[in-house]
Amino acid sequence: MSEYRKQEQEPASDEITEVAPGVLRMQLPIDLPGLGHVNCYLLEDERGLAVVDPGLPGEESFTALGQRLGTAGYKIADVHTAVVTHSHPDHFGGVFRLREATDCALLTHHDFRSLIERRELDEGEPDSADLALASDEDLEELRERWSRPTPWGTKVMPPPVPILRQFLAMAPEDGRTAFSLPEPSVTVGDSDVVSLGRREWVALHTPGHTNDHLCLFDPADGTVLSGDHVLPTITPHISGMAAVEDPLEQFFESLRRMNDLDGVNVVLPAHGHPFADLGGRALEIIDHHQDRLDILREASTEIGGGTVEAYMQRLFKERSWGSMAESETFAHLQHLSVLGEAEVTTDDAGLQRFHF
Ligand SMILES: [Zn+2]
Repeated sequence: MSEYRKQEQEPASDEITEVAPGVLRMQLPIDLPGLGHVNCYLLEDERGLAVVDPGLPGEESFTALGQRLGTAGYKIADVHTAVVTHSHPDHFGGVFRLREATDCALLTHHDFRSLIERRELDEGEPDSADLALASDEDLEELRERWSRPTPWGTKVMPPPVPILRQFLAMAPEDGRTAFSLPEPSVTVGDSDVVSLGRREWVALHTPGHTNDHLCLFDPADGTVLSGDHVLPTITPHISGMAAVEDPLEQFFESLRRMNDLDGVNVVLPAHGHPFADLGGRALEIIDHHQDRLDILREASTEIGGGTVEAYMQRLFKERSWGSMAESETFAHLQHLSVLGEAEVTTDDAGLQRFHF
């Protein structure tokens, strides 16, 4: 047994394994709460390689990428395409250094975009070199500037200062921060065919964790690249800030689609080990959220009319309280309100309250 509670927490090993014919798994280092590595998959073809999710923007990750490519008998210059499953920095970050070193294409979903919207960054994004030297107070100011109002009457904040600092230190080049988005050269939509690694992948748009989340399915041998949509032992964050009325229902739909795929043999997640039972795991994740909805229903008998924060404190352990937990709680409450189980009012302070 591993000393890690969850596979996704295991530190990046430098081992490279062939997980499906012509598909190699390598792990790149991450040091974030709950995550020890991100899987970068190599798809081999006669032109060289496509890499799926080339890791964080920092030097450490890029060095590991180069070393592991070497172990597999390749070099950075063999990479002709990067595929990014969704717009989170542990998946797209490596693209900048990759593109500096070799002229590779970037394939994403049509909606590829950052958590921190591009337009906000365009409004005078501070230089990363300055930020690396910024004081805690300066960074607090920056968090304030990057904060956004939420539909439930509060503000959603960027990561806390120590994590923000960690990301800023990874800035890929002058004038960018670790949150800057690379420009895709090819974008795809649901059901489009992606020819990479001598395979014809079917693009599956799987909104939920992010609006732009993309999975790839090769029906020829049942290989699925599942990104963060379906992970083996943890569940991805569901944001209440999504542009749809019921983000949780959207995630459920994307999960049910996984259960409807025929002939799946191997699932290649962005974190953790490959597994086989995609449908079973997808249904388990739905069940997990159904249990979470029950917790809110039960909590409502005591705190009916509570704010999102009040419900969050029932749904999450105290160490997880904060913007992300609040946002995910709102996604669940919103789902119950769309179902007609909860009614929403707004109090004098502008905070939404949920009555069951
Ligand atoms: Zn991830």
